[in-house]
Amino acid sequence: MAFVSSAALLLLLAAAPDAGQPPAGLRCLTRYYTGELAHRPEGGWGYLLDGGTFIPWRAGPPSPRGDAGAPGDEDDDPPGVDLESIYRVPYVAGPIVPVDSSDAGTIEDPGRVRVEQLFLATYGASRTDVFDRLVKVRFFGLRYPFHELAAEPLRRVVARLEPQVLETPALKPFLTNIGGTFIWRKIARSKNLSTHAFGIAIDLNVHYWRWTRRGEPLRWQNKIPQAIVDAFEAEGFIWGGRWVHYDTMHFEYRPELLDPSCREGTAATMDGGVPAR
Ligand SMILES: [Zn+2]
Repeated sequence: MAFVSSAALLLLLAAAPDAGQPPAGLRCLTRYYTGELAHRPEGGWGYLLDGGTFIPWRAGPPSPRGDAGAPGDEDDDPPGVDLESIYRVPYVAGPIVPVDSSDAGTIEDPGRVRVEQLFLATYGASRTDVFDRLVKVRFFGLRYPFHELAAEPLRRVVARLEPQVLETPALKPFLTNIGGTFIWRKIARSKNLSTHAFGIAIDLNVHYWRWTRRGEPLRWQNKIPQAIVDAFEAEGFIWGGRWVHYDTMHFEYRPELLDPSCREGTAATMDGGVPAR
């Protein structure tokens, strides 16, 4: 990973004395998402998308006009969503830790804040746009469509796992009968598109998916082995097994959440943050 050296940063600062230093998490987005850093006198630092849409790093107070969408859609972006909120809940990679479901409703899932405009700008703004950029990635015997921008990381996951599967054949069943990759759909009970719609998510063998039945209290369960979680996280994929509303077969490409340089100076780093890997 390339780092902006302190010296380079000082040069940046010298070039823009009024704007100050762009937050590390914002600067880091340029590595993974289409758009560029921008500074607005009234909006501060933010991200400028093709077409001129400006997404602020830190949103101001909510609009007095109250132009929020319909209430009650739990996975929808809150009004005035900003880029800083992507990092608000640190994603902690490493050893699998059971998620305490009794915290449901009080804690937030790492990575669940997705600024959809970034995905639309980067991966494609329509089903056809995304579809045209899908490539086939060989994944343990079959080839699956995946977005060209996330295909190489997925191939690297396979390269990490192949020798381990030879050594530990018990890993193989998790990696076959794959649940799916690309499908143009919205998140259940939400207006927002699933990361599967952008071709950057993969569901492993559905057989190992466990969900609490309707009416039963939510209880975290997992069968996905540590080695598989490690291989995906090492290549920039977050795991749905770290969510209260868990989805243990789900991995999605969110490199900004796993790149240590995205967290310099953020609350996550001050708390100890995510181990560099
Ligand atoms: Zn999924």
